[in-house]
Amino acid sequence: MQREDPDGIVISCDFCRRDWDGQEPMIEGHHGSIICVPCLQRALDHQAAGAEKFKCTLCLRFNMPADMPHWADPAHPESVVCQDCIYQSAKAFHKNKEVPFRWDPFAYPPPYKPAATPAAE
Ligand SMILES: [Zn+2]
Ligand SMILES: [Zn+2]
Repeated sequence: MQREDPDGIVISCDFCRRDWDGQEPMIEGHHGSIICVPCLQRALDHQAAGAEKFKCTLCLRFNMPADMPHWADPAHPESVVCQDCIYQSAKAFHKNKEVPFRWDPFAYPPPYKPAATPAAE
């Protein structure tokens, strides 16, 4: 997320609200939303289905099915990341050689598939 400070625009992780130093690798979503590596790791580890439909802070899709795994920092529950964004970000960090993060899809739940739609892949 972005905020306007006297000395310019400050960007901070939408999920932990840490200010970005301009160097640290982050993944950008829509409308200036970003997620940092530690938050992504927590999202991977703690993603879970919820009770209500939700809106993803990164891709801005709304009415996301409640049973699609998603994650929010308990301290900032208004910022939610969907599993699609979690896995896409994980792949992007994996490819970035400067990030000490490696993506192992088999270590995490398989990608969510809506129950009503036949699997496309
Ligand atoms: Zn963060
Ligand atoms: Zn998303």
